[in-house]
Amino acid sequence: MELNDNKTQNTLESSTERSTEKSVVKTDLLGMDRAMMAAYFVEIGEKPFRATQVMKWVHQMGVSDFDGMSNLSKALREKLKRLAWVRTPKILAEQYSDDGTIKWLLEMDHHNAVETVFIPEKNRGTLCISSQVGCALECRFCSTGQQGFNRNLENWEIIAQMWVANKALGCKPKEERRISNVVFMGMGEPLLNVTHTFPVARILMDDFAYGLSKRRVTISTAGVVPAIDKIKTEVDVSLAISLHAPNNRLRDCLVPLNKKYPLERLIPSLYRYVEGGHSKKHVTIEYVMLDQVNDRVEHGHELVALLGDLACKVNLIPFNPFPNTDYKRSSNNAIHRFRAVLEEGGLNVTVRKTRGEDIDAACGQLAGKVADRTKRTIHRVTLDQTVNF
Ligand code: SF4
Repeated sequence: MELNDNKTQNTLESSTERSTEKSVVKTDLLGMDRAMMAAYFVEIGEKPFRATQVMKWVHQMGVSDFDGMSNLSKALREKLKRLAWVRTPKILAEQYSDDGTIKWLLEMDHHNAVETVFIPEKNRGTLCISSQVGCALECRFCSTGQQGFNRNLENWEIIAQMWVANKALGCKPKEERRISNVVFMGMGEPLLNVTHTFPVARILMDDFAYGLSKRRVTISTAGVVPAIDKIKTEVDVSLAISLHAPNNRLRDCLVPLNKKYPLERLIPSLYRYVEGGHSKKHVTIEYVMLDQVNDRVEHGHELVALLGDLACKVNLIPFNPFPNTDYKRSSNNAIHRFRAVLEEGGLNVTVRKTRGEDIDAACGQLAGKVADRTKRTIHRVTLDQTVNF
C-alpha cells in the first residue's frame, strides 16, 4: 500500500487527542489504516512493520491495552503507553430483537451517540455502521434524516463500531466470521465524510485487520456524484444507491440531495463505477416502498426505463415507520405488483426482509443521540404533496 503523505498527515493530526492523563497528548491508533500506522511508527523512530503487529492485536485480537501485546518488546510497549492509545467508545445501550438482531448505542462524545446494528442471517452476518452523528440530507422517509446533524465521525469512531461488535459477539481470529459483511448504511451519508470513511474501508479489507473482501464492504449513498467517482480509485468497495424514486420530481421531494445531483448526473456516474470493474461488478439500487407515493405500476415502468442496461440489482425495502412520519408501508400486493413490473423489464429484484423492527433497528429507523447543530425545522412532506408525481 502506498503512503499518501497529505492524507496520512491529516489523519495523524485529527487522531491526536488529549488523553485523560495530565496534559499528555496521545495519538489514537484505532482509526489508522496500515499506511497511516506504518508512517506513525517511522515518525516515532520504529520500524514500519510494527504496524502490522499492532493492527493484528487491535483488530483481530480485540486488544486495546499495550501491555497485552506480547510480541512487542517491553521498551516499545512502554513507549506506546506514553505516546499512544487505542480509544474505544462506551456502550450506552445494547438491545436484542426477537429475530436475533442486536443494536448498540455508542457514546462518541458527551453530547452525541450513534447506533450500530448487527443482523444475523443464515449464511452471513451483516454489521450496519454509522458515518456521521445524524445526517444533513433530510431524506423524508428516514428517522435519522429528521433528527438534524452534528458532525462527521472520525476514523476511530467509525471503525470502533466494528471493534465493539466483533468483541461483543466473541469473534476470534481463524474461526468462522460472525460479521461477514459491513454496510455503511447506518446514520449519516458516508460519501460526505470520505476523509474518514475511506481509511475505515481500507481497515475493513486489510488482511492484518478484518480481511473482508471488497464485495463484502458496501458504501451506501444518497448520490454524492463526485465521491462516487472516487470510490473505484481510492477504495473499490461495493456501492449501493438510495434511489427511491424513478424521476427527478419525486426524488427531489424524497431525497432532497437530488436537487444538487439530479438523475441525469447520478445515473451516468453509476455506469462509470461499473465500467472496467470485474465481470460481476454491479450497483445495488435501494428503493423504499411508500404506500401510494412511489409504488405504482407507472413508477415501476419509469424505473425500468431509467436503469436501462445498468448492471444492477434492485432491493425493494418495505418502509419502516418511525414516530411522526406521514408515510405508510406499501401493501404486500403493491410490492408484489411493483416487483413483477421490474422483473418483466429484465431487472434482478429482491425484497428486503425487515429485521429488528421491535428494537427500532430496521432500515431508516436509527436515531442515536444527536445534538442538532442545524436547528432545522422539520417540514415533513405530506402524502398530498407527493402522491401525484
Ligand atoms: S437515508 Fe441516509 S442520507 Fe438520507 S437522511 Fe437517512 S441517513 Fe441521511
